[in-house]
Amino acid sequence: MTVLINNLVADTPEHERARQLSAKYEGWNAESILRDAIGQEFAGKIALTSSFGADAVALLHLVAKIDRTTPVIFLDTDRHFFQTLQYRDELVDLLGLTNLTNLRPALEDIRALDPKNTLFQSDPDACCDFRKTKPLAAVTKDYAAWISGRKRHQAATRANLSVVEFDGRNFKINPLANWTAQDVADYIRVHNLPEHPLVAQGYPSIGCFTCTKPVEDGQDARSGRWAGQDKTECGIHLSVYEDGEGI
Ligand code: SF4
Repeated sequence: MTVLINNLVADTPEHERARQLSAKYEGWNAESILRDAIGQEFAGKIALTSSFGADAVALLHLVAKIDRTTPVIFLDTDRHFFQTLQYRDELVDLLGLTNLTNLRPALEDIRALDPKNTLFQSDPDACCDFRKTKPLAAVTKDYAAWISGRKRHQAATRANLSVVEFDGRNFKINPLANWTAQDVADYIRVHNLPEHPLVAQGYPSIGCFTCTKPVEDGQDARSGRWAGQDKTECGIHLSVYEDGEGI
């Protein structure tokens, strides 16, 4: 059994390696970081998790330039906007990605925990847990590292994000940690990449349709996620493992 513990885990050789890699990548651009992580440091043992949301195309394009066979994991919560699913299919085709996994919650969990699809209202943490955290934990144990598109500018909770982290089981590579919203927009424009169709409708951050609202100009990009609630993260980046098992 895996026990989730708080972030104050004891130092391990893996934590030290994460610090050393973060120092090594200091000043490197995102593509160089990815080339080293995918081709050298974690070759054959690294995957990309993508929401196929507002910013996702930049990181997907960078990874596809390096190796189109890199595993890409999409958390198909069963609660996505249909535009996200269409955009996912469009990008996979456009970028030639050959190793996409659509990770769905277990049917028995849907039946037992959320038979009426209303858990997002009564207990969104529990909903994210069985629709996202649990399915992801079941597959990330097969990898040494996973790549995420998180950025420091996105929220106060991400302001101190390291380029490389260790969560007790996996290394997490955040090659866009120091990118701004303008950097993403510039990358998409320079490479003539398609935007998620909901961006033009006021959605700078896109998750499940039940828990995502458009935001006003000048508002925090993630303020439309779980709007009106204390919740700011789905939980997949909060999990810290004490041992090597899935949760
Ligand atoms: S974002 Fe909302 S609907 Fe999606 S898994 Fe989390 S609580 Fe459930």
